[in-house]
Amino acid sequence: MHELSVTQSILDIALRHAENAGARRITRLNLVIGDLAGIIDESVQFYWDIIGRDTIAEGAELCFERRPAVLRCVGCGHTYPMDGLEYSCPICHAEHIVVVGGKEFQLESIEVE
Ligand SMILES: [Zn+2]
Repeated sequence: MHELSVTQSILDIALRHAENAGARRITRLNLVIGDLAGIIDESVQFYWDIIGRDTIAEGAELCFERRPAVLRCVGCGHTYPMDGLEYSCPICHAEHIVVVGGKEFQLESIEVE
């Protein structure tokens, strides 16, 4: 159900921008999803097909760009992308880390006609 609300907000934003631009149709949406956002592409696509119906965004293509989780070592300050399930610092091997990226979910751009 999480994806339904985020998909709805993306549709709202896209429609507002398209309207401001005087577009007749939205053809493509470019989305950025962090690996830690907890959002599944297929679910967004599934809801998109339902809620986009009968709007100028109907049939628009969704393009997902995945961003890896980014961690920072508290010990040495090194910042690095998470590699699989390995999260300890590659420099000092400490396991005291904080998440500094990878939770984003945003609409980067839309294409209209
Ligand atoms: Zn470190």
